[in-house]
Amino acid sequence: MNKTYEKLEEYVQKLHALDAASVLFSWDMETYGSPKGAVANTAEDVGTLSSMTYDIINSPDLKSIVNELKGAVDLTEEQQCIVREIAKDIERMEKIPPKEYRDFSVLLAKAHPVWENAKKNNDYKSYAPVLKEIIDYTKRFISYRQKPGESVYETALDEYEPGFKEKDLEEFFSKLKKNLVPVVEKYGKRTDPEPDFMTTPVNIESQRALTYYIADYMGFDFNRGVIAEAEHPFTTNLHNHDVRITTHYYEDHWSFALFSTIHEGGHALYELGIDDSITMTNIGTGTSLGTHESQSRLYENNIGRGKAFWEAIYSEVCDRFLPHLKGVSLDDFYKGINYAKPTLIRTEADELTYPFHIMIRYEIEKLFLTENVDVMELPKIWNEKYKEYLGIVPSDDTTGILQDMHWCGGSIGYFPTYAIGTAVAAQIFHHMEKEIDIEGKLRAKDMNSIKEFLRENIHRFGKMKNTNEILMSMTGEGFNSDYYVNYLLNKF
Ligand code: ZN
Repeated sequence: MNKTYEKLEEYVQKLHALDAASVLFSWDMETYGSPKGAVANTAEDVGTLSSMTYDIINSPDLKSIVNELKGAVDLTEEQQCIVREIAKDIERMEKIPPKEYRDFSVLLAKAHPVWENAKKNNDYKSYAPVLKEIIDYTKRFISYRQKPGESVYETALDEYEPGFKEKDLEEFFSKLKKNLVPVVEKYGKRTDPEPDFMTTPVNIESQRALTYYIADYMGFDFNRGVIAEAEHPFTTNLHNHDVRITTHYYEDHWSFALFSTIHEGGHALYELGIDDSITMTNIGTGTSLGTHESQSRLYENNIGRGKAFWEAIYSEVCDRFLPHLKGVSLDDFYKGINYAKPTLIRTEADELTYPFHIMIRYEIEKLFLTENVDVMELPKIWNEKYKEYLGIVPSDDTTGILQDMHWCGGSIGYFPTYAIGTAVAAQIFHHMEKEIDIEGKLRAKDMNSIKEFLRENIHRFGKMKNTNEILMSMTGEGFNSDYYVNYLLNKF
């Protein structure tokens, strides 16, 4: 093996271990594993770990190793990708002065409880100054990182969805607006309510049993993964032998745990499908947030809200976990799980209205990143956009601008990846249907063929390919949101 690469490997291992430790701390905190009173002290340890990562990435020794390896001709493809990704991290980190980097981390740690309280008390005013500071930091970091020819928003987006351009987003969202605003309007006027069986209370024990059943049915490997409970469902991973998902049980909203498990299960299958040769390295994880979301949405929506999936298991699920559905036909059940109407909360939105929640956030992010908007004006802008695109107006900021934690966590430029991912899912699904008989497989309870197809074409590569490269080699074309728009038009 290349002698210099051997030195790099030590750094890769160290960085991975530091990252794994941070992941475990946050897993512990978010799954009610650590005592409430631990937060302040533990945050210091987490801060120390992140400084250690910062120091390693910025060390002159690592930089010279990476520079030497950039032109090396005797590296495997995997090794080249590992070098390429570390070089990117170095480039991103070295532009931020260490003091600002640390100060920003401290600000974010303090911002979370401020946002939480503001949301709880419908008190945007108390949160606005912190939000302003976060926006100012973000703008400054963007100015350090911005490459020639790159727009401000592109630099923000690059952190989450490398390779995507602002014009791709503009084209995507204007297509959505043009084709789907009239459909959303139509659904906004519907008077038939959501069927009662969707909100019939189901005891938590049955819901939990259904969660394990459905994860197992999808192909989640309990020998390499666990399921826990958290306030907001999420997936996390240490490597391809330790992938963890969470859900949340609501007695009078049984479909939440069910579909959030299918969603997180899709994320988990991605991480479980990473190749052994790259796991525990910096490229041994999902390539981007958009591609990650494509895997969760594909399972949740294209598969999990489709009829063929339920044809195979509906009666068993009713018998074993949801006896109140026994008199409900499969057709009615299908309509129930696909009930669409504009609502205020993004995480509860149906497939049709979901992308508009994202578009609103994208437009607001662009506004505050590129124009000098007073943060006190943002709630008003938020409400106007909800009126414009969804025909509804939040009655308070708690169900309006305060609902998401992303901005207070410094994640600006993140939201579009949810919509990109959902559109990528439609494109992949469309392609997959040509390659394998998905409906036939679903009716035959063959979930493995689908999982293997995705593993072969997407999962195993980790960060070796970006979203567009995956789409190109898989479907023969780059990102194309037509499949998504057509899918929605067809379904709704
Ligand atoms: Zn997700």
